[in-house]
Amino acid sequence: MIQIKLEQLHKHFHGVEVLKGIDLSVQKGTTTVIIGPSGSGKTTLLRCLNLLEIPDQGRLTLADTSISFTGKSKVNYASLMSIRKQTGMVFQNYNLFPHLTALGNVMEGQVIVQRRSKSDARGQSLQLLDKVGLRDRADSYPHELSGGQQQRVGIARAMALQPEVLLFDEPTSALDPELVGEVLKVMKDLSAEGMTMVIVTHEMAFAKEVADQVVFIDQGVIMERGSPEQVFELSKNERTMQFLRKIQ
Ligand code: ADP
Repeated sequence: MIQIKLEQLHKHFHGVEVLKGIDLSVQKGTTTVIIGPSGSGKTTLLRCLNLLEIPDQGRLTLADTSISFTGKSKVNYASLMSIRKQTGMVFQNYNLFPHLTALGNVMEGQVIVQRRSKSDARGQSLQLLDKVGLRDRADSYPHELSGGQQQRVGIARAMALQPEVLLFDEPTSALDPELVGEVLKVMKDLSAEGMTMVIVTHEMAFAKEVADQVVFIDQGVIMERGSPEQVFELSKNERTMQFLRKIQ
């Protein structure tokens, strides 16, 4: 079953076309890893999936919501909110609220957006913190946590609204190398549980191990897509091979 579908998606900034007609499907319960050189449009593509960026043209379907973009008319508010509700985002720099504890960060959306009672939200948030191995740090503030711990809170927070899809924008690239593993481990567990995930990352070993689908994007175009084996081992595409040589 297809969970996300992009058809001929275009996005430009100030006249520069950053996404040049992206077609992509993501099956429910699978993990898609997006790789490519810096500036190739990976983050923009991810942000178009939850409409943090509004595409100029094309069509986005996420579960049962479909939106066509024409560049002129405004996006229907109900559709926009529906897409946002169905996606959770994990950011490179965690983006936690500094004045809230780990627990408060995970609870916030449930209380404010979903209008759940504080005691309900608290119960679920503690479960999620447990899932990412941070139950005992529930009362710590972000500045009291390591980067890896903050990012795990970020993942718990993204999951708190029970999204259909989790989006990760370079979730480990701000971390010291020794903290990367603990975050990847949480992501690996989520993938194994059948969460639908789209991940922009430079962690190629992780991609090889966990991805169902690897997408190589270059200059706003999907150059190649396939299983990790197809992209990492069997690619005949010169650009893909050049990129992989550089980062290995
Ligand atoms: P990547 O994630 O592959 O490094 P990005 O999607 O961040 O690439 O950026 C692709 C291009 O779009 C870059 O040239 C970047 O400068 C430009 N860009 C991204 N976001 C904006 C923005 N909000 N305003 C203007 N240009 C942007």
